Parts: sequence; structure tokens; C-alpha cells
Amino acid sequence: MWDTKYRPLRFCDTVGQDTLVAVLKSRIRARTAFDRSYLFFGGSGTGKTTLARILARAMLCEQLDTTSLEPCNVCDACQSILTETSQVYVERDAASQSTVDSMRSLIEDLPFSVFGAPKRIYCLDEAHRLSSAAQDIILKPIEEKRLTAILCTTEPENIKGTIRSRCEEYGVRPATSEQIVDRLCWILQQEGVSYDRNAVMLVVDRCGYHIRTAITRLETISLSGAITVDSVSDSLDLGSTSKYLQIVKFIKTPSEYLKVLEDLLCKHTAEEVAGGLSDAALVAFRVGKGFNHKLSAAETMLAKEVYDQHGVLCLQISQTLVTLRRPSRSLLEITLLLLGERLSGTLSELPALVPSVPSTAVAVSSDLASKKEADLKKPEVPKKQDPDKPDPFQLTELDKHVLSNLKPATSKIKLMTREQLSFNKSEEDRDLDILTPDQWRIEFERSFLRYVNKP
Ligand SMILES: [Zn+2]
Repeated sequence: MWDTKYRPLRFCDTVGQDTLVAVLKSRIRARTAFDRSYLFFGGSGTGKTTLARILARAMLCEQLDTTSLEPCNVCDACQSILTETSQVYVERDAASQSTVDSMRSLIEDLPFSVFGAPKRIYCLDEAHRLSSAAQDIILKPIEEKRLTAILCTTEPENIKGTIRSRCEEYGVRPATSEQIVDRLCWILQQEGVSYDRNAVMLVVDRCGYHIRTAITRLETISLSGAITVDSVSDSLDLGSTSKYLQIVKFIKTPSEYLKVLEDLLCKHTAEEVAGGLSDAALVAFRVGKGFNHKLSAAETMLAKEVYDQHGVLCLQISQTLVTLRRPSRSLLEITLLLLGERLSGTLSELPALVPSVPSTAVAVSSDLASKKEADLKKPEVPKKQDPDKPDPFQLTELDKHVLSNLKPATSKIKLMTREQLSFNKSEEDRDLDILTPDQWRIEFERSFLRYVNKP
């Protein structure tokens, strides 16, 4: 695993933290590092805990290089930190141990001195997750300098001012893309993997400058050979932009895009695909309006075609898809089908995708309540309706289709309100209960798909 193998072990291995490292080294040189506590803040993946561990080793190292001030990483003190057996340096993930009790048990060790260090070093990762009471407990020993705390956090504002005022605060900044690419290229050289720098850049871009993710990606890609623009595009599915654009382009004719959609859903979650489609529709709008966009020539052409097809409705497509929260595959498919119908003019507006359980069910059930048990088993919504007679249920066309296609058993459940179940419980009903909203959603989606897929 490259990410563990190349985790920075010395200050000089860290990426983009030169200023901060210089300050920390000056503390170590002056032997004042133990006199204070530290707060490292910055985005996730910037290397806060890595830096905390290096600092702790440099503070405790028995053979510290007095010129470079780098820990040796081989002496007992360094090794015990690296193997997580140190009695002096204790690291805790505050996210999982945020309680008063776990803090108290840490503090109880403090009166017992340890060999080889003036005091203990406690590194608390995700320190903002400590409860308020837990923060109060750790405050006292920090105040009295009975320990050296290294607090790492992405949200320094959620750490009490009383603690912050007693710590030296350091922002751990994300490295620049150039710095990350340099580091990754160096790793590839160490591993004897040939690479194209542009391809490495693509990986960094795709991994949101998260260095550990980028390392893992590169390791996976290297298994099949050199790191080239082609191998990276293939592995990261960079061709997917055009796939998303294809789907949006053919949104009115599902048969044209189903295969492509299936392909995407094999590699990504429905949520990611919804996001990709939303982006694609937005990009198409931008390109259509002549805003610059970083697309290849082929993608730009396709984006223009999409805009020519849908014009300003690209925005509605984008908006509808972006508002899907954790969609299932079916919900995504339904949304696309509905958007297709809407864009073809079949639907005048987009129906609410998942009606809330009561609105439809209660409306129908209030009328059906008087009907016999037998009728409940097949809740036929009248298909031929007298045009003069208004629809008593105020059901939309969509509701009718859905209800008429629901399985009898489930529609029966849905068509009964909780009150009716208690008033009207026959022998048969006794094991029935109202569906949970999730079950309703799933049943609704299935029925809808059955309906739209009907030849
Ligand atoms: Zn050492």
C-alpha cells in the first residue's frame, strides 16, 4: 500500500508546509516544544495528524539530527510512536471518543510520570467533536501545562475559546497542485513506474487535491502498467462527460440512452450519476450561451447539440437532478423518464416525484372506506371518466396510473389509513400495517416503473 509506505515520516517529506515546519523546528531547536500546546487546523487530507506525529517524534527522539532537526525514526522513542506503543505519545480520535469518560480516563494517567519525557503528549484528532463537557476536562491540564496537547481539527471555531487561547494555532494549508504532482512523481520514480506528468496531473485534478486518495488511485492504475493519459482516462472514467451529455441529449427518447445509463450505473452510484447528469446539463447551457468551459473539442460539440435540443430547459434538467437527495436507481430512472415526458410536452409540468404517503392514500381511502372488503382488494381507479363529472379524488393522471398499477396487496395497505385499520379491522387485516415512508417510496417507484415499461 503506497499510501502507508509513503506517509511522510520526516518534516522534509511533508508537502507544502514549509513555513509551519520552520516554526516547529525552531521550537525543537530551542527545546521549548514541550512548553506549550498546539492546535493544527485545516481541511481534511492536509496532513494535520501526520504533522502531529512527526512533531512528537522530533520532540522525543533519542538521536535527533541536530542540524536537520528531523527525527531518526529508528530509536526506541521513534519506533514506539510508529508502532503505536508509546507510553508518552497518545493519539485519540475525538470523533469516536468524544465523551467525558474517555477524556477523564486520559487525564487520570497524567500524575504518573513517564520515562524519557518531561510530560505526556496527547494528540486529539477531530478535536471539535469533543463534547463541551469533555473540552472542559481537557482544559485544566492544558492550562496547568501538565501535558502537551496537539489538537487537530477541521473546525477550529467549534473549540472553546478558553482552550484555543492556551494553544499555539497553526493553519495547515493544502498543498498546491504542483507540489502534489511533484510528490506523486517522486513516488512513481521510487516504485520504478514510468509516467507522463500530465497524466499524474489528471489524477490530482480528479481527486480534489486529496493527496492520499491520489496516491491510492495511482497505485491501482500502475498495476496495469505505465501512467499515461490514456490509462488514467480509462481508469477514472474521464470519458464519462460525453456519456452524461449523450443521456441529456436523448432524454426524450429513453431507448437511446438506457444502455449508456446502465454502463454508468455499473461504475457509479445513482447519486453520482444524478450529479454527473446535472453537471452535464448545466455545462451544455453554459456552452450554448458561449461561456468558456474546459471541455475537449468533441465534448464541446456534443454540449452544443444538447443546448440546441433543449435550450433553456437544460436548466430545468440540471435543477431537477441536482435536487434529488440520495436517489435510488429507480428514482433516478423515473426522474429521467418524467423529464423526457415533460420536454416532449406530454406533461405540462413535472409532477411531484414521490407523493407523500397520506395525500393520495387518504384521499382515495376516504371514499373507499364505505366500499366492501372485496372492493378494496382491487382498487380500480375509474379509467373512463365522465368528462362532466369532476374527478372526486383530484388525482393527477400520474396518480391514477400509479394506483391502478400497484400490487393489490400493497395498495390495500396504502389505501387504509391508520384510523381505518383500527376501526375496521377484519380478520384478514390484522397482520397489515401502514407502510413506512421508505417502503411506500420503494413500492411507488416499482409500480411506476412497471407502468412506464408496459409495452
Ligand atoms: Zn528517534
